[in-house]
Amino acid sequence: MAPLKEQTIFLNARLADGSLVDLTVTDGRFSAIMPVQKASSADLAGIDLGIVDLAIVDLGGQLVVPAFVEGHIHLDTSFYGDAWRPHIPCTNGFDVRERVAFQTRNLAAAAPMAERAKNQLELCIGHGSLAMRSHVMVDGSVGLTHLETILTVREQYRDLIDIQLVAFPQSGILASPGTPELLEEALKLGCDLIGGLDPASFDRDVKGHLDVVFGLAQKHGAGVDIHLHDGGTSGLFQVEEIAARTRALGMQGNVAVSHAYGLGDIPTDALLKAGEMLAACGVAIMTNAPGNHAFPPVAALREAGVTVFSGSDNIRDSWWPYGDGDMLSRANMIGYRSGFYEDHELAAAFDMVTHAGAKALGLAGYGLAVGASADFVTLSAQHVPEAVVAVPKARTVYRRGRAVAKDGKMLTH
Ligand SMILES: [Zn+2]
Repeated sequence: MAPLKEQTIFLNARLADGSLVDLTVTDGRFSAIMPVQKASSADLAGIDLGIVDLAIVDLGGQLVVPAFVEGHIHLDTSFYGDAWRPHIPCTNGFDVRERVAFQTRNLAAAAPMAERAKNQLELCIGHGSLAMRSHVMVDGSVGLTHLETILTVREQYRDLIDIQLVAFPQSGILASPGTPELLEEALKLGCDLIGGLDPASFDRDVKGHLDVVFGLAQKHGAGVDIHLHDGGTSGLFQVEEIAARTRALGMQGNVAVSHAYGLGDIPTDALLKAGEMLAACGVAIMTNAPGNHAFPPVAALREAGVTVFSGSDNIRDSWWPYGDGDMLSRANMIGYRSGFYEDHELAAAFDMVTHAGAKALGLAGYGLAVGASADFVTLSAQHVPEAVVAVPKARTVYRRGRAVAKDGKMLTH
C-alpha cells in the first residue's frame, strides 16, 4: 500500500496584501492557496482520508511570510552560547589584519566549534531563517579543519535548514601560502562558493587574487562571494573588476560582493554608474547595515536593478558583540539606518531578507506559491511594514509544513 500523503491545511493565513487565505501543504510543499471559506469546504470535501493523513491548523489571521534568508554569517567563529568575549578595539582604527589576530587568540580558548555552530544555527532557525549562506575560514593557519566541522554540522541540520558554504580565505590568498590549493580542496569537499577578502588592501594584488577566485569558480562551477571592506575609489575599482570578470565568464547571478563599503562613500553619479554596471553584470550586493561604517545605499541600488540582500555577518564574535540571528530585526536595522519610513521602503527592507536573499542565493522553490517548499513564518502583525518596525518576537517557524520553532525556541519532535 502506498504511504499516506501528509497534508495540513492552514486556515486564515494573512498574506502581505492583507488578504486571508487557506494554505494547503501536501508532503512539504504548498499544493493550494485559496481565499478563505471557498477553500476549506471545497478542499475538505475533496479529501480522501484513505490516502491522506490530514491535520488542520487555524492561524487566526496571523501574517504569513516566507522563511527568512540569512545571506551572510560565520558559523565557525561565533561565541554565541559560549563565554562572553569582551570586544578588543584596534590600536589605530579598523584593521582587518589586527582583527584576524584577535580572532585567532579568542578561538584558541573557545568552546568546541560544533557546539558554537549549533548554538548559532538554532538561534537563526528559532527566529525563522531556513536558508543560509555561511562563510567558513579556509587558509594556511587553520587548513580545512573549520570546514570539516561545519560540513558535519550542516549534515546534521539538513532537515531543518538549507546551508550554502563559502570557502573563505580569512588570511588572504596570496598572503597565506598554500591557500589556493586549500580553497580548491574545500570546493571538492562540499563548499558551494569560493570567497575572497579585500584583494587590494589584504593581498595587495587585485589581479592575482581574482585570478585564483574566478579561476577556481570556473573550474568547479562554483559561485563567488567576496568580502570587500575597502572603501572609496579603491573599493569601487575592485567592484568594477569583479563585475567585469563576472560578465566575461558568463557568471551573472552567481556572484556577490559582501559589504562593498566603497559604494557608500562615493559621489552620487559614480554610484549610479556602479549600480547600472552591477545590475547589467548580475552581481549582488550584501549589506548588514553595519555600525558606524558607510554602507551601500540600498534604495539607489535596488532602483538600478541590483539584487541587494542581507545577513547577520558576525554574531558575538571577535569583530563585534552585536547580532541576534533575527533577519526581521536585521530588516528593521537596514530600514532605520537607510531612513526608510514609507510602506514601500519598509517592504524593500523586508524583501532584502526574503525574496532578494533567495534570488542572491539562487534558491529554487522559494516563497508562498503553489509548488514551493512550505517554509514559512507566522507573525503577530497586520502587514509587512508593521512587522518590520515592530519586530514581533512571537512567531512560529514551519519547515516543509511542520512547526520546528516557536517564539525563538526550537521545538523537539
Ligand atoms: Zn563576513
